[in-house]
Amino acid sequence: MDRDILKCLLLLSFFAVYIGMICGCGTVEKQPPGAAIRPLPRPSLVTPRKVVPSGLRLPHVNVTAHKWKYIVVHHSASPAGSAASFDEFHRNKRGWDRGLGYHFVIGNGRGARNGVVETGNRWTRQIDGAHAGSAEYNEHGIGVCLVGDFEVGSPTNEQISSLVKLVKELQWICNIPSENVILHRHIRDTQCPGGSFPYYELLAGLPR
Ligand SMILES: [Zn+2]
Repeated sequence: MDRDILKCLLLLSFFAVYIGMICGCGTVEKQPPGAAIRPLPRPSLVTPRKVVPSGLRLPHVNVTAHKWKYIVVHHSASPAGSAASFDEFHRNKRGWDRGLGYHFVIGNGRGARNGVVETGNRWTRQIDGAHAGSAEYNEHGIGVCLVGDFEVGSPTNEQISSLVKLVKELQWICNIPSENVILHRHIRDTQCPGGSFPYYELLAGLPR
């Protein structure tokens, strides 16, 4: 009788294990715990627009197609400044609701780090500039301002180096030919960006 009970218990336990396997409780061996978690997708390779050939770290912006045809270079005609200080001036003194009229500002070490490229909200929002004094060039020109007065001084090497990188980057992003990289004085009657601005040095650094 005891043997029969033992046999019965053994059969029952085998049966229980078998049922367990069918129900999936015994599938641990077949499918290790980690396998149930779907692996995270691999980070995709950076898109071409994020690859910065120049080494500049510009914020990623969804650039409006066909909007930008020119790059217009300015000086601030002031010894010091930054995107923030010009933004404040343009908002409060000029009364421009959209603030900073330039799309980019390149510091000279007085107000902003020497050679730093500051991105204005008109670039991140892809809206017209207020820098050219011309509707066509405000609408289709990317305004880049170097801090400094190049009637009385010259841009720093760091500023020119950053300018060349920035301009090349923008040319690449927006498909702008080098002949459309111009100075403010090419558009209207002004000295901007000053007699000491090395335009040919800039052009020499751009694709031909
Ligand atoms: Zn200007």
